[in-house]
Amino acid sequence: MSGGLELTSSRDARVGDMTVRRLLPLRLRRSVGAWCFADHYGPMSVDGVAGMAVPPHPHIGLQTVTWLICGNVLHRDSLGSEQMIRPGQLNLMTAGRGIAHSEESPAEHDPQLHGIQLWVALPEAARLAEPAFEHHADLPATGVDGFQITVFLGSLGGAESPARVFSPIVGAEIAATRDARGMIPLAPAHEHVIFVTDGSAQVEGTAVSPGSLLYLGTGREQVPVAAATGSRMFLLGGVPLGEPLLMWWNFVARTPTQIAAAVADWQDGRFGSVGGYDGDPLPAPPLDAGRLRAAR
Ligand code: MN
Repeated sequence: MSGGLELTSSRDARVGDMTVRRLLPLRLRRSVGAWCFADHYGPMSVDGVAGMAVPPHPHIGLQTVTWLICGNVLHRDSLGSEQMIRPGQLNLMTAGRGIAHSEESPAEHDPQLHGIQLWVALPEAARLAEPAFEHHADLPATGVDGFQITVFLGSLGGAESPARVFSPIVGAEIAATRDARGMIPLAPAHEHVIFVTDGSAQVEGTAVSPGSLLYLGTGREQVPVAAATGSRMFLLGGVPLGEPLLMWWNFVARTPTQIAAAVADWQDGRFGSVGGYDGDPLPAPPLDAGRLRAAR
């Protein structure tokens, strides 16, 4: 492997009834730019079964990014938003000072499900931002040497997503529409990760397949990528956040006091309610001081 590249493996995690590949956070790398959480799930058959069923749960201090490769998912939140999402579209929820949401396969859903779920940490100055929800069905795309690049957050190679961000960032899907080999443009001030959801890719000579995460440090203007037809990868990057994050359950904060306040707010119903979900909200796990210290 060339200098400056780090290849890590995902760990299996449970989200409802689904097993997902958790790519971020890494124990020794809590964030990449402001990206602090990345799950990849599927492809899986949800034909004739409930599919995704994530009951109402709260968030603070982050934005959630929902992106599908296959299938459909219904989002509802405590602002009253109700939004179906399909491949190529973005659901972006800004939690800020606090929001609750549910995500589920609708009663009538597509037979296959494949997607990613990402979190973006809000910088301290925006940590308590007003909660908001955005759906973007039309996102900028650009072609590079046989790769179709869709920019869903931030900007890349002159394409800029209309979605609201709070730090210099990029989130992009890179799909090989033929056997493709080319240079993907990067912002030198950003650090980046690349992971693959379909097929495989060679990134500066390093093989990346589903379940692997390749980290690229700052200072690069481009990276050489090769992939066979139908392969798909994701590029996440941003200016290094430079702020320590404390992540606990669905909360991103800075101090144990902030986490404890969010747990109490959820237990006491101060996040507001999410309508329409057939089932109970998720209870917060017990707050354990030792595990909280280890989460820093
Ligand atoms: Mn969530």
